[in-house]
Amino acid sequence: MQTFSLDDVVLHPSPFYNAQQLDLRYLLELDADRLLAPYYKEAGLSPSKDNYTNWENTGLDGHIGGHYLSALSMMYASTGDIELLNKIHYFIIQLKQCQDANGDGYLSGVPDGKRIWCEISEGNIEAGSFSLNKGWVPLYNIHKIFAALRDAHIYAHNPDALNMLIKLSDWFMSITAHLSDEQLQQILISEHGGMNEVFVDVAELSGDDEYLAFAARFSDYTILNPLIDKNINLVGMHANTQIPKVIGFKRYADVADDTIWNAASKYFWDLVVNKMTISIGGNSVREHFHSPDDYKPMIESEQGPETCNTYNMLHLSKMLFLSETDHKYLDYYERALYNHILSTQHPYTGGFVYFTPMRPQHYRVYSQVHTSFWCCVGSGLENHSKYGEMIYTHKANNLYVNLFIPSQVTWKEQGVELIQQTQFPYSEEINFTIQKAEKPFELNIRMPTWLGDKSPTVTVNNKAAEVETINGYILVKNDHWRRGDLVAVKMPMQTSIEYLPDNSNYASVSHGPIVLAAKTDTTDLDGLFADDSRMGHIAKGDMRPLEQAPAIITDNLNFIDKIHPVKSQPLHFVMNTANGQQLELQPFYEIHDARYMLYWPIYTEAEFNGRIKDLKKKEATVLALEKQTIDKVAPGEQQPESDHFFKGEHTNSGINQDKFWRDATAWFSYELNDKKAEANTLRIKYFSGDVGRKFRIELNGHLLTKVELKSGENGFYTIDYPLHPLKDKISSGKIELKFVAETGSVAGGIYGVRLLK
Ligand SMILES: [Zn+2]
Repeated sequence: MQTFSLDDVVLHPSPFYNAQQLDLRYLLELDADRLLAPYYKEAGLSPSKDNYTNWENTGLDGHIGGHYLSALSMMYASTGDIELLNKIHYFIIQLKQCQDANGDGYLSGVPDGKRIWCEISEGNIEAGSFSLNKGWVPLYNIHKIFAALRDAHIYAHNPDALNMLIKLSDWFMSITAHLSDEQLQQILISEHGGMNEVFVDVAELSGDDEYLAFAARFSDYTILNPLIDKNINLVGMHANTQIPKVIGFKRYADVADDTIWNAASKYFWDLVVNKMTISIGGNSVREHFHSPDDYKPMIESEQGPETCNTYNMLHLSKMLFLSETDHKYLDYYERALYNHILSTQHPYTGGFVYFTPMRPQHYRVYSQVHTSFWCCVGSGLENHSKYGEMIYTHKANNLYVNLFIPSQVTWKEQGVELIQQTQFPYSEEINFTIQKAEKPFELNIRMPTWLGDKSPTVTVNNKAAEVETINGYILVKNDHWRRGDLVAVKMPMQTSIEYLPDNSNYASVSHGPIVLAAKTDTTDLDGLFADDSRMGHIAKGDMRPLEQAPAIITDNLNFIDKIHPVKSQPLHFVMNTANGQQLELQPFYEIHDARYMLYWPIYTEAEFNGRIKDLKKKEATVLALEKQTIDKVAPGEQQPESDHFFKGEHTNSGINQDKFWRDATAWFSYELNDKKAEANTLRIKYFSGDVGRKFRIELNGHLLTKVELKSGENGFYTIDYPLHPLKDKISSGKIELKFVAETGSVAGGIYGVRLLK
């Protein structure tokens, strides 16, 4: 199966078209010179303007420049807008100057990158899951410019991009040429985006198999091998570190014709989609895979599925569909596209969402063009630039319609043009008009799984059509298509209930492929439009108590009898909740600037009364602690640590019983925020297994306490340290918290840090 080029598919008015146009404006609003500044600096040139702030000047400098160029290129292919082409040319010319100034093919905005690459080249490798030789994920960062040059070549046919990409690839291979396989694997401990994928791309684009061989060597075998063995535990892993690796395995499998790597990527996809994914198609809590047997963190956290993960899962699904033609990949793609991706863009400002919490009555935060430069802004810029990629595919003389999105496709090789007109999902009717049919072709229309036991109806020129179902498609029979032929299809949609994969008592409601949710209120939306603070992407406003969440009381697990359509408002329904409230359900992607319910707690009458009491008790403790908390760090978790400017030497992190930890034989530190100088207690969480370890806790360079972890504890426990002895040393608002190991001992493991009022 093959996709069409983005420029063969033109979107017609629909929510996707609106999203594309908004994204186009967001792209044009970005200041290219500020995005280029990190590249200039790293090349030793002076930039015309300074970096943007946020992640663009605190360590991940330059990553958005890469996404920007990729998005410009795909958006240009999708829309043909000449202003975009001019921007692409401008950006590439500037990048070329930087690459030429570096002189050896190197190009990136990684701050202090030359030192990092030099050390690595000497075999001096210090890799943590999100650091490499003290840089913040430099490989993840540089991957974005690799991908950008590839995309500028493929989508915008830029004449310099491929040459620049090959030079960059040669530079990277030269600095790693004399490293052993073990050393390459050591480097790959650090998050590295789709580095293996892009080397396969370079192999294909250049026709040189040397890059392909390198792609195989530069793949993370600590993930690949257990996937091959179908024996992997993803729980606790940083999700968006793993998904791009698997995209690389799949890409390698396709080009090298490797059935084993292909099977590994299929196995990963099944695991993530069937066990780790919620109804909107997203996965992960606080960026990590949680236990498939326990979705409590998904319901409780304000940091639900990350948009980047779904961006990458769509990419993997597309690749798998093209080679396997199994419809499960399309079913997922459609679901994730409407319910996660489309929903992550603000309908007026075009701002992007990072986390989509599933916590009842929580809300989401949107990026602003000139303040927010997170990973999900980067992938967000790309998401809405390429909606045309999977609406249609083709194979031999078959045209396949996969998604019901208003559009026109031009199939140059066959001389075929087809227009798809529909209000789907607001209407079940989808019309196809043949504009041109120079050569005979077969028209195939996808039979989505959400049809259930319902059958679609098909007419050709208003007469019942002769159809056949082949491989999940309706083949519409016609000896010879002519200009003006009209194919009308009706896809009956039905309401369905889907429980969380752990079979707990939380369910979401869908109509057809569209996940429905209810706005609950629009109060206390703190930080709705993110500023440039490090944690601006998290919706940190009040969390509403779980026991007060609207619940459904029913004896019927399949409670569709409680859901009633709103007259003359397609896809809107009303549902009665336990407290007698009537809430309106609508497509989740329509809900913005509001708190919402998407997963509903489902109880029988008796359960409801009992559990509410329990929850109330637990929640009161949690909320009281949150109220008392000024700042907190989850050691060993990538984003919280980066957000607190983690530093360290000879330090390790890992997971113990689903809980993250960090320790060090030397030291590690975080920067805590106490803007109003209200802190009076430091609460640290430890594990009983670490008994006997000796270390010091320092604040702003002053000893707070010496610690020796005592026996007698059982499992996880916390100790509170009063801060008053150092009160005058920490009154400035910023507190550097440092754990320093005593000689021969270990500092930590630290399982949690909280600064309390
Ligand atoms: Zn992200």
